[in-house]
Amino acid sequence: MSKYHSLEAIQAEIQFGLTSCEGVVRYYLSQIEANEYLNIYIEVFAEEALERARELDRRYRENRESVGRLYGLVISIKDVLCYKDHQVTGGSKILSGFTSLFSATAIERLLEEDAVIIGRVNCDEFGMGSSTENSHYSPTLNADNPARVPGGSSGGSAVSVQADTCLASLGTDTGGSVRQPAAFCGIIGMKPTYGRISRHGLLAYGSSFDQIGVLSHSVDDTALMLEIMAGADDFDSTASQKPVPAYSRNLRFKGKAKIAYFNSALDHESLDPEMRKASARMFFQLRDKGHTVEAVDFEYLDYIIPAYYVLTTAEASSNLARYDGIRYGYRSDHPNDLLETYKQSRTEGFGTEVKRRIMLGTFVLSSGYYDAYYTKAQQVRRLIHDKTLEILKDYDFIFMPAAPSTAWKIGEKIDDPVEVYLADIFTVQANMVGLPAISIPAGRHPNGLALGVQFMANKSEEQKLLAFAKEVNQFPEI
Ligand code: GLN
Repeated sequence: MSKYHSLEAIQAEIQFGLTSCEGVVRYYLSQIEANEYLNIYIEVFAEEALERARELDRRYRENRESVGRLYGLVISIKDVLCYKDHQVTGGSKILSGFTSLFSATAIERLLEEDAVIIGRVNCDEFGMGSSTENSHYSPTLNADNPARVPGGSSGGSAVSVQADTCLASLGTDTGGSVRQPAAFCGIIGMKPTYGRISRHGLLAYGSSFDQIGVLSHSVDDTALMLEIMAGADDFDSTASQKPVPAYSRNLRFKGKAKIAYFNSALDHESLDPEMRKASARMFFQLRDKGHTVEAVDFEYLDYIIPAYYVLTTAEASSNLARYDGIRYGYRSDHPNDLLETYKQSRTEGFGTEVKRRIMLGTFVLSSGYYDAYYTKAQQVRRLIHDKTLEILKDYDFIFMPAAPSTAWKIGEKIDDPVEVYLADIFTVQANMVGLPAISIPAGRHPNGLALGVQFMANKSEEQKLLAFAKEVNQFPEI
């Protein structure tokens, strides 16, 4: 059970003199210590976080108006986000020892509003994976059941919130890496529209898919953090120029929603029957509240994963070319010449899954196969994009389970990467199309583990999605 469930609760305690920002940081540091066995943090910024909190408390005592909107917010950050003068490794050996020269725009904006960063957390190497087992720094364990994975790739982020070691966490979502671990750990995970938050200072995996997202206990905190991080940025030309609404101040969903779901998803062979029941219970409650829930045809579900893994491996093979043993981090210490320096540093520095993807990506981009794979996958992406937007012309949201199953056992799927890829089936669509999506806890499976449901909205409709998610999150246990 978490001590704090929202920033509002923390700020109220501070206001009444029951605690201070330092007190909150101290509480979370003690939680980090108590949960060390879960292997959540790659690095804890203990002294620095305490010092920053003390300084903020001092300012607050002098003048309450002088602190930012995130005063009292203690967060962890996924180890793919640059934080000036701190190490960032992408969960990879190849970046070991590398220190960020600047902060990601998202981080900078949170700091400007007086958030405190307590540490950087574990993840699958460069975000490639769904279980946090592909980290150079060993797997993170699920706090509900340490024999289970926390999901991934933002598994450290999810468990950092689940185990009450911070109030919220920044993750990244290329194909579900915020939403799926949130679902596996019983918390809320949200990815915004592609381009809503600047990617400047985020180690790139699949640049046309990557987005920063928030893992938290409350829709209000998610909305506030998003509001602060979002918006145009001179350092990222793909960041949207659209003005950022005051998401956090308009979280009452007005009217009745029209929600679409796909029978192809709910009848999918990979879907755990309990997840199907949870979806049915959700529909029942939604209809009970006057919302409309209807099945629509979507014939492309089984094409999403193949197309995604062609496109993201292609982008990854290009993005990861920069880790050459010369410019950043790790360098092999026994090569004989320049070519061997490249080869051996990459051979020793990258893990198995990353190498698999670099090879796959290089293959699908090779001149003889480019049209057969890369061009074809782009065409499939376009079809999925157009069909999805067509559905969203008639519906406010698309419903999906967050994942086909609950958290699997550590090691269970380690020898079957394709099975792990296929488990992304319900989250990847949002990234293929660039839509905002949120996963919300939906009770427990009879096996005791958390279940999550997911809603997607049209591009730039975060406001509507968050307000609706807040309503759904208040439904009695489903
Ligand atoms: N599991 C997916 C992958 O490995 C998604 C990862 C992510 O969103 N970063 O590509």
